[in-house]
Amino acid sequence: MTDLSAPTPMAMDDDACWDAFQRRDRGMDGLFVGAVLTTGIYCKPSCAARRPLRENMIFLPGPEAAREAGFRACLRCRPDGVGRDRLAVEAAKAFIAAAETPPSLEDIAAHAGYAPHHFHRLFKRETGLTPAAYGRSLRTQRLKSALEEGESVTNAIYEAGYNAPSRAYADAQRHLGMSPSAWKDGGRGVTIGYAVVGSSLGPVLVAATAKGLCRISFDEDESALRRRFPKAELVPGDAALAGLAAQVVRLIEDPAAPVDLPLDICGTAFQQAVWAALRAIPAGETRSYGEIAAAIGRPGAVRAAGTACGDNGLAVLIPCHRVLRSDGSLGGYAYGLERKKALLEREGGG
Ligand SMILES: [Zn+2]
Repeated sequence: MTDLSAPTPMAMDDDACWDAFQRRDRGMDGLFVGAVLTTGIYCKPSCAARRPLRENMIFLPGPEAAREAGFRACLRCRPDGVGRDRLAVEAAKAFIAAAETPPSLEDIAAHAGYAPHHFHRLFKRETGLTPAAYGRSLRTQRLKSALEEGESVTNAIYEAGYNAPSRAYADAQRHLGMSPSAWKDGGRGVTIGYAVVGSSLGPVLVAATAKGLCRISFDEDESALRRRFPKAELVPGDAALAGLAAQVVRLIEDPAAPVDLPLDICGTAFQQAVWAALRAIPAGETRSYGEIAAAIGRPGAVRAAGTACGDNGLAVLIPCHRVLRSDGSLGGYAYGLERKKALLEREGGG
């Protein structure tokens, strides 16, 4: 793991930055970027590309500043992808997942080596959730998986890390759109709207509860949904679902486009952590299964991480297509390698 107490870019002058580039110092990646005036490209210090003349290079605090100044990210070193911030967020996610009781923001920020207020913003920017909401969603998923394994509702609630049943029911209703009892009974009492819509990569099933999307898959229809949610009420989608489906199709056509769609997914805490790590991969970039396992703090669980990637129920939206084998080959994809290849090409990666 990178030293998270490394100096901030503000503490570095141009000569120190230039020296870091000359050394290709990996430890400085994420602390600042170097932009080349003659090519309009910015790089991280460890970039393997040939160095420009000193007078053609300027140093900026990060990728955002470089983009604002009109530079483009280097395709070779992908300076947007790794950085101190992202590593700190991954470390915090693992810390939250491993904690018996929900850690305070102060504890989480201290673990990551940041000031609490700053870290709160950073975590939200990287994951779309506050640290507290992330912890709640993990507990909710643990509760679901305990219930799926058939434990009594009360035991499941305590094992998921809740202090009292009433909190668990409130959380479950807010986050899952289902009470624990309903989930235990195959989704009885839950209404799922669905539609099969066309896309340039073939027919796609889009299904959602009142809380958010619960299934996006290619080449599936109502019968597949019925197997997944045997006791739920399945209804043809209404106008709201049509709106969601249209956004899903737009995402398939342009998987690099920013999305903010509501999710209502079920999975174990481990699966949930893997899916969060997948969503943290920027469009146009890829990771190996090993990198995903390391990102969630379980470097030994490469195979399990690969399985969890494949088990995610929201194709494209949870971008498991951005994970390749460590040798750079495509690896697998639940909906066929041609689709994986097409999605990667559309977002300019792969
Ligand atoms: Zn570069």
